[in-house]
Amino acid sequence: MSPGYGAPTPLTAGPPWQCAGPGRTIPSVFHSGAALMRTTYLPATACLLALSGTATAADTQKTEILQLVDQEAPQLADTAHKIWGFAEVGYQEAKSSALLQQELKAAGFEVAAGVAGEPTGFIASFKNGPGPVIAILAEFDALPGLANEAAPEHKPIPGQPAGHGCGHNIFGAASVASGIAVKAWMIKHNVKGELRVYGTPAEEGGSGKVYMVRDGYFKDVDVAIHWHPGDANSAAQGVSLSNMAVKFRFHGTAAHAAAAPWRGRSALDAVEIFDVAANFMREHVPDKTRIHYVITSGGGAPNVVPDFAEVFYYTRRVDSKVVVDTMNRLKRAAQGAAMATDTTMENEQVGGVYSLLPNDTLGRVMDANLRLVGGVHWTAEEKAFAETLSKALPAGGGKAIGSESQVEPYGLDLKGDAANASTDSADVSWVVPTVGMRAATWVPGTAAHSWQATAASGMSIGAKGGVVAAKSMALTAADLFTKPDLIKQAKAEFAMRRGPDFVYAAMVGDRKPALDYRKAGGSGAGD
Ligand SMILES: [Zn+2]
Repeated sequence: MSPGYGAPTPLTAGPPWQCAGPGRTIPSVFHSGAALMRTTYLPATACLLALSGTATAADTQKTEILQLVDQEAPQLADTAHKIWGFAEVGYQEAKSSALLQQELKAAGFEVAAGVAGEPTGFIASFKNGPGPVIAILAEFDALPGLANEAAPEHKPIPGQPAGHGCGHNIFGAASVASGIAVKAWMIKHNVKGELRVYGTPAEEGGSGKVYMVRDGYFKDVDVAIHWHPGDANSAAQGVSLSNMAVKFRFHGTAAHAAAAPWRGRSALDAVEIFDVAANFMREHVPDKTRIHYVITSGGGAPNVVPDFAEVFYYTRRVDSKVVVDTMNRLKRAAQGAAMATDTTMENEQVGGVYSLLPNDTLGRVMDANLRLVGGVHWTAEEKAFAETLSKALPAGGGKAIGSESQVEPYGLDLKGDAANASTDSADVSWVVPTVGMRAATWVPGTAAHSWQATAASGMSIGAKGGVVAAKSMALTAADLFTKPDLIKQAKAEFAMRRGPDFVYAAMVGDRKPALDYRKAGGSGAGD
């Protein structure tokens, strides 16, 4: 353990100075009690030193960590931009994964590639004697159909089938930068323990992390740290939606649709009857259950009775039991549709994730560190980009420009009131105490999986959000390495929330990763 590394410095200290990042709009004076004082604003890195008048060893080390991440910032931006250009979809992220691995190797990490049956999955590790094992997660897959120029208008890139509409290019680059900075700090202060960066492919519907969890790659980890790009800075913790993804395939008999339709049995008819049944079912499922589908194959020509059709379903809800029950009902409805049309049906589950198990102990540590780092500050050029893009957001996006410089209030959502998405980090959170955060990599009001998200993820606005995430995660990792009690508390809360009888069973069962799910004719999964 590093000597003298104490509790997080409280940031509520008041006048005569305040912490601020460059570019924040700040008043030159403020009123405090009866005295009107001039306020001097200090950059975050200098702030710690000033907080206690005389800097403690802990303050100095936190300042060092922030500086170490700052040193990585140019490479973070460069890597994020390269991966944005590769725009590789799930399990096909060969170049993106190689680039991140290469950076980690160059920084002295040992890298094991191709873990859990995932050729693009990797674990980079730096071990410095006995101590806690802290993991930082890194994603890097792109989404089909979301290629866009790094411009504030809708400009699809001709010939490019995928784009980083969820910002995973920055996700991977920032997690790696964070890991490299923490390693440098560990070496300098001889901090004991093991730091790992997990390269986790195919987050978007491929459930990449689920196979790593199922196959035991997290079993000796003490705490896992992750983040996600977003349109705000927040370390609020909450549950997510459990999700199950199943493809239904119907097989019929082809025939000339005009000359001999009685000889045919339409697989498309089966899909349509199945979809009608599913849509009637919506009334009779628990509130907040989500059911969505796309027809991924429906025949080729109207004059041929389709002998093959395929429809792809998701069921989602916070409660994974409802998710599974609803999917089981859909499977029976699909059998009914096959009977009704004299066709046959098979189904394949291609993904399944739990609902995230939040950890308040860790969330509060992450929140304190995020507040220390502060939000994102744009140049005049970036602001102009944001203002133009903002006009293209549906209904203005509902969030004001300027909010990217703030940190949202901390909260703990255990019921899922705010849950609207799924993540495969959820499965990690059921085997290891896990903490995540969001950083403002996008123009406020931008939704994930949009061209607006792709655009900002490909330029400096995205990279700046990545630096906020890298710093917050690095400070949190440092807290964990140096405060054994923190890990103990996080584990106690984890055990309490999980319950004594919990046994992890992957929702994907014992299947292998669907490595071809994004390939034409592959098993196919969305996000
Ligand atoms: Zn994402």
